[in-house]
Amino acid sequence: MKTITLTFDNGPDPVVTPQVLDVLSQHSIQSTFFVLGDKLRDRRAATVRAHAEGHWVGNHTFNHIVPLGMASEVSFSRSEILRTAALIDDLAHSRKFFRPFGGGGNLDKRLLNTEALEVLLAEKFTCVLWNAIPQDWAYPRNWVDRAMQLCRQQNETLMVLHDLPTGAMDRLDTFIRQAKDEGFTFEQDFPAACVPIECGVLRHPVDAILTTN
Ligand SMILES: [Zn+2]
Repeated sequence: MKTITLTFDNGPDPVVTPQVLDVLSQHSIQSTFFVLGDKLRDRRAATVRAHAEGHWVGNHTFNHIVPLGMASEVSFSRSEILRTAALIDDLAHSRKFFRPFGGGGNLDKRLLNTEALEVLLAEKFTCVLWNAIPQDWAYPRNWVDRAMQLCRQQNETLMVLHDLPTGAMDRLDTFIRQAKDEGFTFEQDFPAACVPIECGVLRHPVDAILTTN
């Protein structure tokens, strides 16, 4: 059986996040929201609702400006991760999900630096990557076809979407209906291949996503 795990990055958004939650609820789908600390500070209500409805809340850095693999300042990565973790607080999953970013959805050495890796291991985070980026931000009107193509290519899809006001989430219901019609099932947990660090334990090599500069 082919599965799809949905994740929503870069929120919360006071309008789009509740819109996404409404659609997921109609389809009884559970997902994960990888939030930015800077947004969570004054937009907590949508994330509180997501948590209350059984969705998982993960950490996606504080302000999502400099990828941690490109950070040169000492303590920058530590701060981006731990400041956001403190804001997520009691909404966090016990596995402490963290998702890095690089820009454009590429899985490359921009994702982590050694300081970030040390924090993730020492503080027992679970690092969650992805294997499908339909670029909903760039193609808000026709990302669904791209998303379906990605799902057909693999048995376990971990998809990154964005609860941002681009208009893309107006198509979420269409995507879910089409995927269900084609026989996909939706799972909340992540394919193991997309989780290089589980609760502070290294499961897969991280060389490809770690800068050594
Ligand atoms: Zn992101």
